[in-house]
Amino acid sequence: MLTRKDFLKGSATAALAATTVTGVALADEAPAEQPDYAAQVSETKDVDLLIIGAGLSGLAAGVQAIDDGFKVTIIDTIKTLERRGPEGLAGVGSFLQKEQGIDLDVNEIMNRDAKFFNYRLDPLTWKDMLEASGANIDWLAEKGVVFTGQVDNYRDMGEFDTFHWFPGDHVAWQYYSTPMADYFTGHGGEILFETTGVDLITDGDAVVGAYAVNAEGKVIQFNAKAVVLATGGCGGSQEEIAKRFRTLPVGRYFCDGYFTDDGSGLNMALKVGGVDVCIQRCFLGGVSCVCDDGDLRAFGATRGGSKGLNCCWVNQNGERYCNEASALEFSGAPLNAFMAQEECYSIFDAAFAGDLLDKAIAQGADPEDVNFFSGETLEELAAAIGADPEKLAATIAQYNEYVEAGEDKMFNKPAEYLSAKFETGPFFAARLVAVCHGMVGGLLVNRDFQVVRWDFSPIAGLYATGTESNMNYRETYTIEVPGTDACNTVYSGRRAAQHFAANA
Ligand SMILES: Cc1cc2nc3c(=O)[nH]c(=O)nc-3n(C[C@H](O)[C@H](O)[C@H](O)COP(=O)(O)OP(=O)(O)OC[C@H]3O[C@@H](n4cnc5c(N)ncnc54)[C@H](O)[C@@H]3O)c2cc1C
Repeated sequence: MLTRKDFLKGSATAALAATTVTGVALADEAPAEQPDYAAQVSETKDVDLLIIGAGLSGLAAGVQAIDDGFKVTIIDTIKTLERRGPEGLAGVGSFLQKEQGIDLDVNEIMNRDAKFFNYRLDPLTWKDMLEASGANIDWLAEKGVVFTGQVDNYRDMGEFDTFHWFPGDHVAWQYYSTPMADYFTGHGGEILFETTGVDLITDGDAVVGAYAVNAEGKVIQFNAKAVVLATGGCGGSQEEIAKRFRTLPVGRYFCDGYFTDDGSGLNMALKVGGVDVCIQRCFLGGVSCVCDDGDLRAFGATRGGSKGLNCCWVNQNGERYCNEASALEFSGAPLNAFMAQEECYSIFDAAFAGDLLDKAIAQGADPEDVNFFSGETLEELAAAIGADPEKLAATIAQYNEYVEAGEDKMFNKPAEYLSAKFETGPFFAARLVAVCHGMVGGLLVNRDFQVVRWDFSPIAGLYATGTESNMNYRETYTIEVPGTDACNTVYSGRRAAQHFAANA
């Protein structure tokens, strides 16, 4: 019998196969043939600096370069700046912190993170970024970026009061992007929307421009002294993630961020000698249950919904594999444990589901969804998810004992989340997927955000900034120093532009 699990695997495989025939090759396969852009050029533009990507980082690079007196164009696939975005960013020593008496020590923060990552990052990059971060907040405010004035540890999740909040709810475009873009264009910069960078132009080993395709399908050739890839990484493309993270095939990863961050910047850089370090980098996100026809996240939520923390998580074999409340220890924990398994499910019963299930169905969730399984008995549920029925039964029995005793002897889940035993059928399994705002880091760069080769020699004329190249984390995104990803986007954009200015 074809189970839904088989079906899901089949679709993932089919989707991957489809991507290979349509041109997205696996990482170790030769890239697909590209059109001959040089032969199709309908317009040529000469600029000093071409920035691909009008996100936080591209705009920071653009404003810095304009202030340094260069002719700069920013291009982006998107139509407008309007979209969900960061709530704030980290800073140490900003005017707001000074006003509020928040006195943080860069070395303490840098050493804390170096230790957290077992020194598998470059502490100097952290130090550089943190040391510049207070002045960068001041600089942003001077350019018109709006902060609420509140600086804190991001809803008590972090260790340090570094988080500088933008007003509103995920509307950074209004308070960061619009003022930065206005400043940039008001000082002579050009932004071309609906214009996608498709290929870099080289002269020998150096990058000297790029081809872009606009909304009318016209090819524009940009001749530039340097190109900044501020292209946001590959988190918007399930196929790219599947290709670079073999444990996250299509269907196991869901983008909750920008779909236009599709790996095109990364792929352009790889063609000219850049190095893909995605596998050593991390995601901004967690695990949850996402359904085709609705939202059953309440059952899979790792952090927000206490219901999710009270579920029992099992892997493809029906074995419990981690502390379901591990997100409370540090943000990336559930995602790391998830990626070590083939499949993960959040298990609960009818009594636990209560009216949550009815509510989810009333909101359009489909009990027949490919990510949602049920069985009158645990045996039936095991068959539905393809797990060993004896193992699943044993897992749930043991979990119920831990709940009864108020002590998780296996993974030390805090007693307060051991509130529900799962005894009464029907039983349910919500399949967990990685739900991420995006990927953090992908291209190897040096301290000036020049894209480098395997031997660390810089590729002349090519920078990568923001989430395209974030070198601050290894496989886990930390929130203990809240807002460091957005902090890096500003810092890296500025630093790349400053390096360009010093060497142009
Ligand atoms: C909803 C949400 C909330 C977040 N909240 C926070 C937060 O509070 N704090 C924090 O630190 N971080 C947060 N992040 C992370 C945040 O995304 C980054 O900090 C920041 O937005 C990344 O900026 P960036 O400039 O590197 O990339 P992006 O903002 O992703 O910009 C990249 C741009 O490049 C464009 N692009 C890509 N390829 C091409 C191409 N080939 N040609 C032309 N254009 C291209 C894309 O369209 C995109 O506009 C959040 C992310 C999301 C999605």
